[in-house]
Amino acid sequence: MTDLTLDEQKLFDFIEQRKVNDAKELIKNGDIRINCIDKTGMNPLDQACFRGEEELVRFLIENGANVDNRAHEQGYTCLMFAALAGNPPICQMLLDAGARPHAVNTINRTASELAAFVGQHECVSVISSYIDSGDIERILHPRGKESDVIYPSEFVTFIHDLTKTHEIHPVKITFEIAQNEHVLEHRKKLLFVIDTLFERQLRSKEPNEPQSIKLWIILHTIRELLKFVDNNSESGKTTKELMLLFAKKLLLMEPEDEVRKNEEALFRAAVRAFPYHNSLLFQTLAKSVAKIEFGKRPACFKMILQALFGPRFAESSKFCSTCGVSSAKKVCPKCKIPYCSPECQKFDWSIHKKCCEAIQQRPQTSSSYIELNEEDLEKMVMKDQEKIEEEEAAQNKEEEITEKEE
Ligand SMILES: [Zn+2]
Ligand SMILES: [Zn+2]
Repeated sequence: MTDLTLDEQKLFDFIEQRKVNDAKELIKNGDIRINCIDKTGMNPLDQACFRGEEELVRFLIENGANVDNRAHEQGYTCLMFAALAGNPPICQMLLDAGARPHAVNTINRTASELAAFVGQHECVSVISSYIDSGDIERILHPRGKESDVIYPSEFVTFIHDLTKTHEIHPVKITFEIAQNEHVLEHRKKLLFVIDTLFERQLRSKEPNEPQSIKLWIILHTIRELLKFVDNNSESGKTTKELMLLFAKKLLLMEPEDEVRKNEEALFRAAVRAFPYHNSLLFQTLAKSVAKIEFGKRPACFKMILQALFGPRFAESSKFCSTCGVSSAKKVCPKCKIPYCSPECQKFDWSIHKKCCEAIQQRPQTSSSYIELNEEDLEKMVMKDQEKIEEEEAAQNKEEEITEKEE
């Protein structure tokens, strides 16, 4: 343990008292070693993560804080502190800065296991769905700076942002691409990188089923989006307008609908098209989707989230009714469905205004969590494939009808 300077001691006090501005001021002008260690072995970043101080965490990282301090007496890392504090954006920031998701403490627990233990399910999903930007870099530039084509860093960042997250709703993905239209200059490469990342998940020594299904959903969505844009290229609309139209179409809903049918059809088609049928997680998901009649709740999106990130995350978070991001803080004042932002609410308004009253009248479902019992699991392992196929055929028919209704 190092002796702290007076300023360093003061810095730890400020962080504990959540005096963010004072702490920043001291880091800028005081006698501070950014990675000084207090008596428990924590550096200032560890402390800021533990307190959930987002702004200060960002500032510390920008000023060279070590995201992999291993001096804590029980082996806790800053990512573990952020996970315990239940702060998903901080977890994301730390991962982006190179924090290792698989590091363990003295009792052999990872950050995501600790988060699960204390019920911080969104932190679990942020950590478990993370993808290293180095992986993307290596696919794009296999020979480093000597590679035949060097893609702009914004392109790498865009693919990283799109794939590293647990937020995989098609409307969100569409918004992201519409806002970063430049990525379509390399559209083949965009699809290639995501496809390569996807293919790797089940082929590595430690197959990652949730990650593979997640990447598949992203890939499937982008393919559908581009297909839509191409098919309507002569409509006189700009590419961006077409992409937003694609998002609008996904959101279409009539007052009598329980779910958004186009969105539902897209998710179901994505699940059906998943190429690795031996994946047990895929079988579980396909089975729970097949149990629900097309158009009924729970929506396929919810079932996918349950399969990928656990039922508790799917149940405990509020998902934006437009873009599906978790922790939506706003609601429609009348029917109380959640939105993440006024922009998302506005985007949905022309559709939602017809349905708002019907939604108000609807009995609230207490839980959409489908429990799979042991019998179900056993059947799945025995590959109850025939039945799934039959049910799929039935769904296909229903989806055709929906498409005609449009
Ligand atoms: Zn939203
Ligand atoms: Zn409403």
